Amino acid sequence: MSSLMGIAASSGIAIAKAYRLVEPDLSFSKKTVENVEQEVERFRAAIAKAKLELEQIRDKAHQELGADKAAIFEAHLLVLSDPELVNPIEDSIKSEKINAEPALKNTADMFISIFEQMDNEYMKERAADIRDVTKRVLAHLLGVALVNPSMISEEVIIVAEDLTPSDTAQLNRQFVKGFTTDIGGRTSHSAIMARSMEIPAVVGTKTATETINNGDLVIVDGLSGEVHINPSSELVKQYEQKHADFEAQKAEWAKLVNEKTTSADGHHVELAANIGTPGDLVGVVNNGGEGVGLYRTEFLYMGRDQLPTEEEQYEAYKAVLEGMAGKPVVVRTLDIGGDKELPYLNLPKEMNPFLGFRAIRLCLEEQGMFRTQVRALLRASTAGNLKIMFPMIATLDEFRQAKAVLDEEKQKLVNEGIAVSDNIEVGIMVEIPSTAIIADQFAKEVDFFSIGTNDLIQYTMAADRMNERVSYLYQPYNPSILRLVKMVIDAAHKEGKWAGMCGEMAGDETAIPVLLGLGLDEFSMSATSILKARSLIKRLNKADMEKLANEVLQMRTTAEVIEAVEKATSK
Ligand code: PEP
Ligand code: MG
Repeated sequence: MSSLMGIAASSGIAIAKAYRLVEPDLSFSKKTVENVEQEVERFRAAIAKAKLELEQIRDKAHQELGADKAAIFEAHLLVLSDPELVNPIEDSIKSEKINAEPALKNTADMFISIFEQMDNEYMKERAADIRDVTKRVLAHLLGVALVNPSMISEEVIIVAEDLTPSDTAQLNRQFVKGFTTDIGGRTSHSAIMARSMEIPAVVGTKTATETINNGDLVIVDGLSGEVHINPSSELVKQYEQKHADFEAQKAEWAKLVNEKTTSADGHHVELAANIGTPGDLVGVVNNGGEGVGLYRTEFLYMGRDQLPTEEEQYEAYKAVLEGMAGKPVVVRTLDIGGDKELPYLNLPKEMNPFLGFRAIRLCLEEQGMFRTQVRALLRASTAGNLKIMFPMIATLDEFRQAKAVLDEEKQKLVNEGIAVSDNIEVGIMVEIPSTAIIADQFAKEVDFFSIGTNDLIQYTMAADRMNERVSYLYQPYNPSILRLVKMVIDAAHKEGKWAGMCGEMAGDETAIPVLLGLGLDEFSMSATSILKARSLIKRLNKADMEKLANEVLQMRTTAEVIEAVEKATSK
């Protein structure tokens, strides 16, 4: 038995066999072959195996994920049957007398670079298809297995170096009991999604993929951040008990599902949920969410190979607004970039993606894409209580430009005779220090603020939220962060506006007492954190927390703040 320590990213206990989601080694060397006919046969056999495998994946994707996802694999099958690709590879084996691996790789690379240079979006996407298919055939030539999470059909714990948000979206909740990764932090998007999917997770273990083999029995303790590999039966028993205790605690919190969130001295705050898809609404309702404080619309754009249409988006937004039945729903416009990539946009790789061409910066440049989203939102606005917010606002000009686009599209719809609510609040995420610092100026023009601490902390501390090596600098309770948060809340209140928080800090037990004291109006968090937060706030006195907040703002270190919060809340 061995153990690893990582970052507790999604609470709960999972015990199951390991499934390594690790790319196999596809390296090879170039060789001369005498019997070229035999080599061509070997190549054809690899193609046949790849086709069979793709057909199975396509059918399974069709059943479980819908025609949309299945179409991706259908496109791969077409590539494999295309003589324009296959014939030159066979010719290369014959004429150069080389093994199939370099013949395949060289020919595929040539096509990939031709397609990538084309202006046409559709052709650019074909480059990605060829890359995927080449990998699959190469794996068969080399006799190594490619991993395929959509084919998992027994209970497992996923072990990976990292999981992209789109990998995470494709995990089957029925079989994936937990996951653990080498890299990542509490606010990486795979961790955030794990929480909304209620999958226990430990990230940033540094060595999970080195230490854990396929089939090892693994315990993922998403409460403490521990991962145990091939544990003794004694430890398994202890963890079964810990799991049962956790479930019992959840049952206790569940009694608060229909209650308002009111502090012991009668101050009401709103506890809302962060969602990624309309499917997450079940969790919001089950956990007593008083609204949606952040709908991350980018997940609508992921795991597919083209932009969603206005109609698709309209349906999704309408479903969420209707599902919340008049409760507030804050929809964030597209926030792509950082760790959330959209391969089909073919954006150039950047040295610093978190500081780069992303979110509102991209939307203001690619206005067609932005306007489609805005139209879909405006059309859906009559279905409920819609609020729109723009991500990554760094300057007032950016807000004004984005707002102007919104106003223009609204006017166009009205001219077309399409109904649009005239009660839509328009706000911004405060996640860049420049905006927090002049929040007083912004407050005159926006309807509300939602503080995005996941990014605000990384930009204030200059510590990449994804990088476990600098996670020690990722300090939500650092007085510098608390002072910025105070500036934003005070600025909003001075102009009669409200301030919420949708970063993970809003659901953090140590932060909540201070945020309550600072006067935060809305706390938006993973749905699964809501009941625990409600139970905490009900025990706190707002007046006492105001005193606590004033004290901690004057402190020097995170450790001092934590100690003060513990002292103030342990009574
Ligand atoms: C944030 O930055 O706090 C936030 C909520 O946005 P995201 O985590 O999607 O970057
Ligand atoms: Mg953010």
